[in-house]
Amino acid sequence: MTLAELLQQSSQQLAAISDSPRLDAEVLLCHVLQKERSHLRAWPEKIITGEPLARFQTLLEQRLSGQPIAYLCGRREFWSLDLAVNPHTLIPRPETELLVETLLELYPQHTPLKLADLGTGSGAIALAIASERPGWSIIATDIDKTSLQLAEQNARRHQLKNITFAQGSWFQALGHEKLDIIISNPPYIAESDPHLQLGDVRFEPRRALSSGADGLDDIRLLAAGAASHLKPGGMLMVEHGYNQKTQLNDIFTKNHYKKIQQRRDILKQPRLTYGYID
Ligand code: GLN
Repeated sequence: MTLAELLQQSSQQLAAISDSPRLDAEVLLCHVLQKERSHLRAWPEKIITGEPLARFQTLLEQRLSGQPIAYLCGRREFWSLDLAVNPHTLIPRPETELLVETLLELYPQHTPLKLADLGTGSGAIALAIASERPGWSIIATDIDKTSLQLAEQNARRHQLKNITFAQGSWFQALGHEKLDIIISNPPYIAESDPHLQLGDVRFEPRRALSSGADGLDDIRLLAAGAASHLKPGGMLMVEHGYNQKTQLNDIFTKNHYKKIQQRRDILKQPRLTYGYID
């Protein structure tokens, strides 16, 4: 079979489960062949047989059973960094780049600051910031040891030396040293949200997605606890759901944050809230 025929056939099958069947087929095939997508355009008549074909068929079956492309390839790009991901971690989302972008805009200076990324998962946020602010010292935490090992591996691959890693639940992973900034993409989906039963999300760790009846248990905990780990004037920034803007403003206000601001993501949905302590 030629590459073109294989892509044609597999995209047709993938249309049953994916919104991007052709792209999925191309990405899986590139993963098997260890080539860029331009290779498929340049060599459509190339024949694929034997082991590579068998490996592609296995991945195709897994994708047809719903498994996310990012887990099948073990990679996802975030902030132009190629990151290893696995089913222990959330798959980094494009909308989370808003946190990185906003933070860099608020702190353009390269004077050394101390930042903690709580619940780092694959390390996406911590690594993106570390790569843009080499003079800062960053601590990335996670409750899950396997996730933390993956984040460390990603940092090594990108030769980022200004990150340290600490295992523990939220603030438990931090020492007594005070920070300038605490940032987090915590779980925030309500337990009963039907979204949790759909698509790629079904295969992601529930612990990284959902938090209590209204999804806000961990955000409440972060907002209540951050002040005792921040320097005066320090900032807490969190990602949240598109429908949680008002609750976030209430939680931050109740916990005495000042200059509270909220921003929308690339899809124009409310997505992040930040505020400062006195
Ligand atoms: N934005 C993700 C989703 O809706 C959830 C990520 C998170 O819980 N932090 O699937």
